[in-house]
Amino acid sequence: MRFSFEVKESDLLGRVGTLRVGGKTLETPYMFPVIHPVSQIVPTSELKGMGFGGLMTNSYIIHSRRKKEALEKQIHALLGFDGVFMTDSGGYQVLEYGDLELGYGDVASFQADIGSELAVTLDRPTGYPQTRARARDTVEYSLKNAKATLKEFAGRETVWVGPIQGGLYSDFVRRSASSLVEAGFGFLALGSPVQVMENYMFADLVKMIAAARKGIPYSVPLHLFGAGHPLTMSLAVALGCDTFDSASYVLFARTGRYMTRGGVATLKAMKYLPCSCPVCTRTSLKELLELDHTERTRRLSVHNLFVLREELEACKEAISEGRLWDLVEERSMAHPRLREAFVELAKHSDELAAGTPAVKERGLFVRSTMDLARPELRTAAARLSGAMRRSSGDAVVLDSEGTKRGKSAVGRKDADAYRVHPILGLYPSELEFHYPFSQTEASLVRPETPVEPKRALKELGYRRVLVQGERRRVRSRRTRRGASPSPRSSSARSR
Ligand SMILES: [Zn+2]
Repeated sequence: MRFSFEVKESDLLGRVGTLRVGGKTLETPYMFPVIHPVSQIVPTSELKGMGFGGLMTNSYIIHSRRKKEALEKQIHALLGFDGVFMTDSGGYQVLEYGDLELGYGDVASFQADIGSELAVTLDRPTGYPQTRARARDTVEYSLKNAKATLKEFAGRETVWVGPIQGGLYSDFVRRSASSLVEAGFGFLALGSPVQVMENYMFADLVKMIAAARKGIPYSVPLHLFGAGHPLTMSLAVALGCDTFDSASYVLFARTGRYMTRGGVATLKAMKYLPCSCPVCTRTSLKELLELDHTERTRRLSVHNLFVLREELEACKEAISEGRLWDLVEERSMAHPRLREAFVELAKHSDELAAGTPAVKERGLFVRSTMDLARPELRTAAARLSGAMRRSSGDAVVLDSEGTKRGKSAVGRKDADAYRVHPILGLYPSELEFHYPFSQTEASLVRPETPVEPKRALKELGYRRVLVQGERRRVRSRRTRRGASPSPRSSSARSR
């Protein structure tokens, strides 16, 4: 089956891309809503109407409960949806129900026979917590099945998705990912994040995704299993996850949990519905609470899906505008564990820089000490280290309003001109129009060890260093001799 992935725009390791499967396309980042093949809370036609062009379902459940019907009708007619179907192998259920006679070949041929477009090969989820020895077994078992499936079923009309296992053991995760790529998989899926996420171990989630991404070329898309939480979506996208699947919209709805882009609330404890989706605009909170359980679950599920969809759109827009970092940071304020995850993400700044455009149309915001780790600043700092070269005996430090004419204003036409960036410090004025040197908006945040421009230039070997504002201030102080200093000159002196 024809399969391709094209990156249209990127920021950090997040990308807006086009996933082409057969003749169908999905724009990424994308979340496949998980549907139960026997009982659907939200009809597939309604999911399609909401803009979901791909669904995820479990091939094991279809195999055990609707096998004959599925083989006759094929999955699209069976479940009433003509978009892209991704099927999970049911590795978890195979293990859970002890149905161990079902091998990789049975699972693969069934998925291909029912017409699934994206099929995960039979794996064994590592889970959490897990011993190192057991984690190794799950990686080896999943990898062996994956390779065998690809070899035997490569000719079928199905795109095989390689499952990455290894859990919290980063070395296993990385090796699992690179081995699948070597074996020829063009689409990988990272397993086992569910328990990690349920335990709010978001920093570990960052480590897992980063390890997987390290083993995969940039051009290969990555799916993250079961990660439908509005708070972690931007984080996962920023680390290079392109698609997700989740049943969280239903699971949360069943227990009366109402998603918002800032977290999850309990319907019973709420006083208002802070959402403008069709459910929330047509139903009052009181009405929702009075509905029977099934109908309330259905409506809450639809609401939750709207929230997830909105968050995905927010991720895409943020990538397009070059402010994905800002979005991840904003979401990280919702919970201390998410803040820890953001700190972990910042440790990967150099990798994130690889997908971050060299030039952005929008100014760079530095609002917190965390922002000092922004990849844009890392890239600029690396560029700067090679650009500080002395070509004259004199140097002029131009002030923020100073132009090239500033050099003549201070009487040093042949002097090397510098400017001061609020975070990066001194830079040659030729870089002024290079992003982000004059496009940075910083609040009170300053680097821990700011370098004094004059001293830094003397260290570069300049005989004379003139600071543009300083000369003006000296002059203004002279003319005002005797009078009390103006607020401006007093602040200049105290600096
Ligand atoms: Zn709503």
